[in-house]
Amino acid sequence: MSERTLIKGAIVLTQDPALGELPEADILIDGDTIAAVGPNLDAGDAKVIDATGDIVIPGFVDTHRHTWETSIRTSAPDFALITYFGSILDKFAPLYRPEDVLAANRWGALDCLNAGITTLVDWSHIMNTPAHADAAIQGLQDSGIRSVFAFGFPNTSLQVWWFGLDWGGSVERIDGDLARRIRSQLSDDRGLITMGLATRGPNFCKPDVVQYEWELAKELGINVTVHVAMDRFGYTKGQVKGLKDMGLLYPNTTYIHSSHLTDDEWLMVRDSGGNVSLSPQIELQMGHGWAPAQKADQLGIPVGLSSDVATTASTDQFTQMHAILSSERGRRHQAAWDEDLDGNEPTPDLITSRDALRWATIDGAKVAGIADYTGSITPGKKADLVIIDGSAVNVAPIIDPVAAVVCAADISNVDTVFVDGRIVKQGGKLVAALDGPRRDILASRDHLLSKFGDPEPGWLPVAARARA
Ligand SMILES: [Zn+2]
Repeated sequence: MSERTLIKGAIVLTQDPALGELPEADILIDGDTIAAVGPNLDAGDAKVIDATGDIVIPGFVDTHRHTWETSIRTSAPDFALITYFGSILDKFAPLYRPEDVLAANRWGALDCLNAGITTLVDWSHIMNTPAHADAAIQGLQDSGIRSVFAFGFPNTSLQVWWFGLDWGGSVERIDGDLARRIRSQLSDDRGLITMGLATRGPNFCKPDVVQYEWELAKELGINVTVHVAMDRFGYTKGQVKGLKDMGLLYPNTTYIHSSHLTDDEWLMVRDSGGNVSLSPQIELQMGHGWAPAQKADQLGIPVGLSSDVATTASTDQFTQMHAILSSERGRRHQAAWDEDLDGNEPTPDLITSRDALRWATIDGAKVAGIADYTGSITPGKKADLVIIDGSAVNVAPIIDPVAAVVCAADISNVDTVFVDGRIVKQGGKLVAALDGPRRDILASRDHLLSKFGDPEPGWLPVAARARA
């Protein structure tokens, strides 16, 4: 018989519209599955976790992160997108060895688990050799996280892979044979690691490359994820329209950032069954543009939140929820001022903390393409859960439990985390041993910084400066 655990007496924010928010309920976990949710469950000899006064939520879903960049965390606090391309992608990425990718993916995935992120979409554009791909998957596997491995392309030269030698688009294709080999390894579409395709898209690539990569995704039966409409990058303008013209608007495609989609393109995303992944902290900080969560949500387009890059901001979903709530409400308040609305009326059409939590959990699972088996606390789904300490000094007293999670809590309140029914964090501590993975990530950082060379004036990461 599989192991059974009863989480007892918690405030349960199921994110399942049929079950809603339960002020005091139990959750029975049987093996890897949520067996039952409700008050006073009879669980026989199940192991009991007393969660009285605590809040249980589905695990967070990070819908897009370049996990390989964990080795160079905080190397680029003041970068804009354009300087990020020039330094991180053109200078650091070519230096990565397979062991750097392994160390970064393992440490980055542990960072996720610590923060209550139970599903990570690893947008892996560091496929410099087949060994890099194997290392990326190994790192995810070692951590025990649920993930979508979004297999990408090499980042050995910005011009070759992003702009093309004639600046008219890359002629280099994703390695189809390697993609097929990895698909055969990640063939279980309900397994702990599933597969997606991380592509560059129109303008960055010549049309025949775009055609090839989208058709490769179709052949492999996996979803496409692509960055579009960000910053003042001419290359990212009109990409969705370009895909429509090529007949490549596939359902379940994730359009990352989408900061400057035209109204027509928004309808194309909706009508083709696409979704968006927004990284509000990064988009605001690095100049991509506003995170248009409200626009997408009003159109019925699933919104997932994402951390994007560890080089520039914190990577937890509390940060993303704060950023989206602040920026989208701030924009609406400003619009109300500009529309000269009567100050005696409340500002209309504001997003809510409940929207933010939904985007960080169940809608994120929709964006990741796995909402049929995770993303909400629903009997029959996988047990991917987080217990938030309701007694913590920055959380108690609780009045509105959603506000307690979205507006008050932080990583330090992530007490217990289940992935696939397994406890990966308990009593505020990761179960995994950290010494080995930490040693590896520090060694990776030191290697990469030692090779980086020729930093831009005034730009020298602190670790390198300390050694200089
Ligand atoms: Zn990105």
